[in-house]
Amino acid sequence: MNKKEVRVRFAPSPTGHLHIGSLRTAIFNWLYARHECGKYLLRIEDTDRLRSTKEFETSQIESLKWFDLMSDEPIVHQLDNIEEHKKIAHELMKNGLAYPCFCKPKDAEQTVTELSSGIAHRYLGTCRDKKWTEQDLQKPHAIRIKIPEDIKEIIFDDLIRGRISVSTDQLDDFVLVRTDGTPTYNFSVVLDDISMEITHVIRGEDHISNTPKQIIIYDALKKEKPFFAHLPLILGEAGNKLSKRDADVSVEEYRKKGFLADALLNYLVRLGWSHGDQEIFSRDELVKLFTIESVGKKGAIFDVKKLLWLNGIYLRELNFDQMLKAIDDLGQDYKQGLLSNWGEDQLKKLFELYAQRAETILQLFEDIISLSESPKTLDLNLISKWSNEKTIDLLRSFVEKLESISSMEHEDLLNLAKEVCANFDLKLVKLAQPIRLALTGSICSPGVFDLISVLGKQETIKRINALIKDLNL
Ligand code: GLU
Repeated sequence: MNKKEVRVRFAPSPTGHLHIGSLRTAIFNWLYARHECGKYLLRIEDTDRLRSTKEFETSQIESLKWFDLMSDEPIVHQLDNIEEHKKIAHELMKNGLAYPCFCKPKDAEQTVTELSSGIAHRYLGTCRDKKWTEQDLQKPHAIRIKIPEDIKEIIFDDLIRGRISVSTDQLDDFVLVRTDGTPTYNFSVVLDDISMEITHVIRGEDHISNTPKQIIIYDALKKEKPFFAHLPLILGEAGNKLSKRDADVSVEEYRKKGFLADALLNYLVRLGWSHGDQEIFSRDELVKLFTIESVGKKGAIFDVKKLLWLNGIYLRELNFDQMLKAIDDLGQDYKQGLLSNWGEDQLKKLFELYAQRAETILQLFEDIISLSESPKTLDLNLISKWSNEKTIDLLRSFVEKLESISSMEHEDLLNLAKEVCANFDLKLVKLAQPIRLALTGSICSPGVFDLISVLGKQETIKRINALIKDLNL
């Protein structure tokens, strides 16, 4: 018999920008589908009309596009299916597997204290065994599932967490369709997963308490259940659920701050999944190696420093065309600041020089943009630290020699500087640091002779002369 095609889905609710944890869920679904040569689908769960917006949907889709994680089939919108979901609830009612509940929401529930989850509301069962007619359905009513009495336990084998069993004592006849006619999350999810022929539900651990309810619905509908895999949470440094206090939680923020999609993807996969000690993976490698069984049970701590380190590594791998694409992605200001101030050869060289020191593309671009102008103000502390009574003469002598040479190659510039320093009986650093200050306003920068060869003779002389003028004051 042929193996059934794997079909997974990522099902975000458009009630905010895409969350970093949801992105990881999307990535794991995508990797699993690709590893199994199956399908990865996208379903927008937009039934919460109060909190869902088109803007958030567009923003989430844009984020997924940025990672190349778009659906293999047309995107499904849950809202389009709710009439069908209501019809199915009606059929369940007719077959005695669900029933109308005419209780007012407040009267319907009793409050029970549960050791594990604090206070819970549980339905008393008032309407469970009442007879009803089609006529009664004219009155406002919700539709509740009728959990069969003989089912004492719901058991499922989670692909990550192993066997999970929940006593039905902990569940009540939960609502499938609310009095206002809207189907509930658990009901719609199951019906959509059935109609999309989902074979594996891979989602965050925060949904684990929904799974027994969903299994009851599958059983009532006599439908084959998918496999379930609940991913561990992403945690903040203190072991709490990741929050804004620990790091940015919206994917959009990472894009704005100059992270690279491939680096973030690589980082997120390693939060919960591992392959020995390996840290850096290409997408092809991940597709080849990824299995759900190798996802850990324990929550993984989000480490911004490690992400920055990884981003820096990916940054240094970018070629010139990819850099230009990244400029385009960041918008007009960066385009203006980089492309109109520098020629192509200069930019190529600057990317190479500054990428060695940058961790994000934003930092890289900002450093290069700020080099395009002479330093606005010079830090007096730095000046006094790196200059003495010989500095002005030293700089003048360098400028003089620079004017007379034709080569702007690194080696020739270095030899020139060494010669000047030898004449003054000073170490190279005594000249290099003031030049660096003159060119960049700082004493941390790429190699000073590399910078001179990119800036060119005239610009270098202009900036050194400006420093000489300041030193003279
Ligand atoms: N829409 C749900 C959420 O955004 C996901 C539902 C599911 O994966 O079953 O958390």
